[in-house]
Amino acid sequence: MKKIIGISFLLVFVLSSMTIAQEKRIPAKGLAVYEAGGGFKPYEFTRHAIGDDDILIETMYASICHSDLHHTHQDWGTEIYPMVPGHEIVGKVVKVGKNVTKFKVGDYAGVGCMVNSCGECDYCKAGLEQYCKKVMMTYHGKDWAHGNEITQGGYSNNIVVKDRFAVLVPKNADMKKVAPLLCAGITTYSPLRQSHIKKGDNVAIAGFGGLGHMAVKYAVALGAKVTVFDITEDKRAEAAKMGAIKYVNVNNESELKGMDDSFDFILSTIPAMYNPSMYLKMTKFKGDFAIVGLPAFNNQPTFKVMDFVFCAGRNVYGSQIGGMKETQEMLDYSVTNNIYPEVEIIKANADTVTQAYKNVLAGKVKFRYVIDMSTLK
Ligand code: NDP
Ligand code: ZN
Repeated sequence: MKKIIGISFLLVFVLSSMTIAQEKRIPAKGLAVYEAGGGFKPYEFTRHAIGDDDILIETMYASICHSDLHHTHQDWGTEIYPMVPGHEIVGKVVKVGKNVTKFKVGDYAGVGCMVNSCGECDYCKAGLEQYCKKVMMTYHGKDWAHGNEITQGGYSNNIVVKDRFAVLVPKNADMKKVAPLLCAGITTYSPLRQSHIKKGDNVAIAGFGGLGHMAVKYAVALGAKVTVFDITEDKRAEAAKMGAIKYVNVNNESELKGMDDSFDFILSTIPAMYNPSMYLKMTKFKGDFAIVGLPAFNNQPTFKVMDFVFCAGRNVYGSQIGGMKETQEMLDYSVTNNIYPEVEIIKANADTVTQAYKNVLAGKVKFRYVIDMSTLK
């Protein structure tokens, strides 16, 4: 009897200390910007404890999306600093909450732009969590489930996320190339699927960077005839290598002639000022012009109302990343079909990442910088 009481006491002690341990905040370190447009510096912080539906991921790789630059530069409005960017993340699951069945310790997980949403609205029910009014962004988001603390992103050694907002990365995936799929991949895969792109369609991709080159790869894989639009000569050969049949340098006016009414589908990933009406005119009757590129608030491209009437019958729509179900579908499709981004791996060093941001702005990256988070000191 004494023995049983002793064991019960021990059990209660072990279980309660486990609960206390689970409730503890999690130390984290990363790279942050401390002011708009500033360089990176090391940053130590803590993350909320792992809840019953959460997983803790040890970050392996995080990549640099142009949206990270828009945020750090306050292109889209006021931000809060220090800010640890990073919403293209892959890593290893090191702890799981007690309700989690989707992941086990040792699995690989990917995280994109979102870490939580209400789970109850029509968008969430339809698997379109990105449009939920309470969607919580991976960084610069207000964590309404944890006292409105500010979320911090993937340029860090770990991240805590609701299991619903992580995708299971197959063990055979090329891990150093997976992170960009979590934003660049899904943001381009989704509109190609929404517009039902199929074999033989004429497709144009405007902006041949991190997003654009993924769009080219997916469109080629779907059997489309792909034309690329960009502002540089430097990427002409790469476009051909990826299967594009044509490359247009929009700075050469002669290359733009005779292209009106040409495309079943156009996707704009352009992050800067441009003339969207030019692409609307190039869209065929009953064709789609999808926009995902997000230039700064104070540098917004505009349509004239007349353009829509004179280009009647064309569908123009915007698209934001993709829901979690579609993100898992995109990831599985990409790994199965060996569709990965072109990446340059860099060290998780403040100066290196600061320089990488400058290179992205100067158009010097081909096509995605991926930060090896295991090198973080
Ligand atoms: P990148 O910087 O990697 O790529 C942008 C590309 O566009 C570059 O190749 C750039 O050329 C090219 N470009 C710039 N100006 C023009 C122009 N006038 N005409 C044609 N091409 C041009 O950026 P990302 O691919 O990472 O991101 C693109 C945009 O998509 C960003 O605004 C980002 O915020 C947005 N985004 C939107 C999402 C959504 O959910 N809707 C999700 C993720 C990103 P060069 O390199 O030679 O300068
Ligand atoms: Zn992104």
